[in-house]
Amino acid sequence: MIYLDNSATTPIDPEVLDAMMPYLKEEFGNPSSRHYTLAKNAEKAVEESRERLASLINSKSSEIIFTSGASESNNFVIKGVADYKKYYEHRGNHIITSKVEHKSILQTCKFLNGEVYLNKEKNKPKSYIPRKVKSINVDRGYDVTFLDVNEYGQVENNSLSEAIKDTTVLISVIWGNNEIGSLNDIKSLSSLVKERNILFHSDATQVLGKINIDVKEVPVDFLSFSAHKIYGPKGIGACYIRNKMKDVPNIDMTALIHGGLQECGYRAGTHAVHNIVGFGKAAEIAKRNMKEYIKKITDLELETRKLIKSKFPNVDFLGDPENHIPGIIPIILPGVINELLIEKLSNDVAISSGSACSIGEPSYVIEAIGKKDFSNNFIRISLNKFIDDINKFILSL
Ligand code: PMP
Repeated sequence: MIYLDNSATTPIDPEVLDAMMPYLKEEFGNPSSRHYTLAKNAEKAVEESRERLASLINSKSSEIIFTSGASESNNFVIKGVADYKKYYEHRGNHIITSKVEHKSILQTCKFLNGEVYLNKEKNKPKSYIPRKVKSINVDRGYDVTFLDVNEYGQVENNSLSEAIKDTTVLISVIWGNNEIGSLNDIKSLSSLVKERNILFHSDATQVLGKINIDVKEVPVDFLSFSAHKIYGPKGIGACYIRNKMKDVPNIDMTALIHGGLQECGYRAGTHAVHNIVGFGKAAEIAKRNMKEYIKKITDLELETRKLIKSKFPNVDFLGDPENHIPGIIPIILPGVINELLIEKLSNDVAISSGSACSIGEPSYVIEAIGKKDFSNNFIRISLNKFIDDINKFILSL
């Protein structure tokens, strides 16, 4: 199998797996139990992983909160800030995001905005979101602006500035797009609101370990991450929450999972120690190998682009040619129906027609960049660090 769907998930690095194994076997203690060696070992492992992730983004370890993944981190930030600002601080109810965010941002914002999906037959709210639904609006008391983007899927400074209201409490803009790879200028966008008492979040899931992230340089308040995009295990992610003053997270927001005091009370529940250790190890490897990783993936990407172009001269490469996530190649192949090609290659090659979280639906990202008519011809190829030869893939096309 030639696996080229690494934006959906990456294979686990053998070093990561080795680091995790003891915590699935003999080191099974609960880090919150604390008072005996087995629990202390687990607590030490969790804290070491926190430091490793913090070091990858140049933050303090007390600014890292572990979650189950980036979907949870995104839900936590949006709902936690929205709830706190509106009901405790009475500060405002307006949130700004973009039209090309990951679904875990979009659907959370639509939920706050009052969108309810109904089962068509019974007119009852669904506990999940099926494909064919009718939607109605209820008043949850929030107001969300979904910003348009440019031809590369990026949010422009002036469109963000114009959308800000007196009631704006939170802005959330994706750092690197999971479908077309374009990078937003998060430093410049977050700097715009730095002085205005508005919190800034960025979904950094696709860029962690792939570009340099330095929270001392970029004035974001929150970031979301996921381990399984950087050769770590699934089911573990994190949230960066800036410490404005002391050594404890002190941006007030409502907890997402109420219960015990794990993760400073923001996120109750027994730590998944093996997964946290895997995430920490993946972060440590990403930091250690960042330079070589970027060089290898960039070279492979250039070669792949060249080979695709020579085989399909009318290919349209999407996204920002300069500022994009290394290793993502989003293309439109005119005349080629993506679902049919993916099906035809499915036993030998894994490629994608967009985000795994939106599979079966036309891509809203492609629509937002003005290429709706070609959404059936859109293919995303995403590389990983273990690939050495791309020729076999090109031959299979
Ligand atoms: N945000 C982005 C940009 C993503 O690409 C993904 C993964 N598809 C997520 C959030 C969700 O991550 P997780 O699978 O960890 O919930």
